[in-house]
Amino acid sequence: METSVLVINCGSSSIKYALVPKDPSRPRLSGLAERLGNGDARLKGTDSHGESFEQALAGADHARALEAILERLEGRLPVAVGHRIVHGGERFTRAALIDDEVVAAIEQTVALAPLHNPANLTGLAATRRLFPDLPQVAVFDTAFHQSLPPRAYRYALPESLYREHGIRRYGFHGTSHAYVSRRADALSGLEGGGWLTAHLGNGCSACAVWKGQSLDTSMGLTPLEGLVMGTRSGDVDPGLHAHLSRQLGWSLERIDEVLNRESGLLGLSGLTNDMRELEAAEADGHPGATLAIEVFCYRIAKSLAALSCALPRLDGLAFTGGIGENSSLVRERVTALLPHFGLQLNRTVNSETIRGKEGRIDAGGRQLWVIPTDEEGQIATETRQRLEEAAA
Ligand code: AMP
Repeated sequence: METSVLVINCGSSSIKYALVPKDPSRPRLSGLAERLGNGDARLKGTDSHGESFEQALAGADHARALEAILERLEGRLPVAVGHRIVHGGERFTRAALIDDEVVAAIEQTVALAPLHNPANLTGLAATRRLFPDLPQVAVFDTAFHQSLPPRAYRYALPESLYREHGIRRYGFHGTSHAYVSRRADALSGLEGGGWLTAHLGNGCSACAVWKGQSLDTSMGLTPLEGLVMGTRSGDVDPGLHAHLSRQLGWSLERIDEVLNRESGLLGLSGLTNDMRELEAAEADGHPGATLAIEVFCYRIAKSLAALSCALPRLDGLAFTGGIGENSSLVRERVTALLPHFGLQLNRTVNSETIRGKEGRIDAGGRQLWVIPTDEEGQIATETRQRLEEAAA
């Protein structure tokens, strides 16, 4: 019997999918429908033999793209659909079995994630229409961080902004931090250890995890807070918005655009948001690239040091995400900035640990791990757990 879960991650013009079998030795089918709504919309993916395919979907909307995805599942009808939903507000502390009431509650969080939740809801509605008989589960990026204590999630703002408008720190990348910290527990044999996890990709965040629970994280009300990212600024002075408005006459939309799309590694380097290109440019003596990598690493180390205050005991650090998994240079520079953590990097093993490879990279002292994240696998696992609980 087929026991795979179809994991769907819906953006405003894209759908990422993965058919995740319960048995990890069976192949996953995965792919991406992109540029939906445009003449050059297309579906790209990999079949069960590892062969890649690409199919034109001119003018397709989300519903049509889902039908095309269904045809690519090679007749393997999933047992359930797991949806990645960016924001679950305070209502969702774990994955939820989707019904009309849950959909209405997700709609109420749209104000907190105006860019992401509407797209997630579009995908949810189209998938429910296509698979009316399949159970569907919502897995939230924010849910893992609902264990944060008030001292970590409250901003020092008037209480009414929290009570009446939900203005607080929520944190994101929860699925990734949950997966990586659980994996660190399992690999180290320290069930319930104290971990700092660094998810470093195009978006970047760090998290303090104790006994499997998130106690603090670097992202906040929105995914803009915290670390320097590919094109996002991360933390800036909260007075910056007023300053730019008064001095340069910038609108809020312009400020939002600059902080989200023109800043971070791209803004600092004046070159690119791609860490591979920055490393090559630094080696060629590009001063902007050098500065971008230096600020990026320093801010990660500073954030990890701050987050360590949340932990009763620090057992180690785990790196993940495109940069965390691949860039031995970033891992080396970040650990070098934390000598007081008692970290000793094994430089040889570090330089050999690249994408897809799980490994321990310390030479004694506190543990250092590279753990490739598996958000799709984690969404499938949480979907199964939720269904099992519902059936019990
Ligand atoms: P993600 O969003 O997790 O896919 O990560 C994207 C980031 O990972 C981009 O900044 C890439 O430049 C970076 N990345 C991917 N491969 C490498 C690599 N071999 N070395 C350094 N950075 C990499």
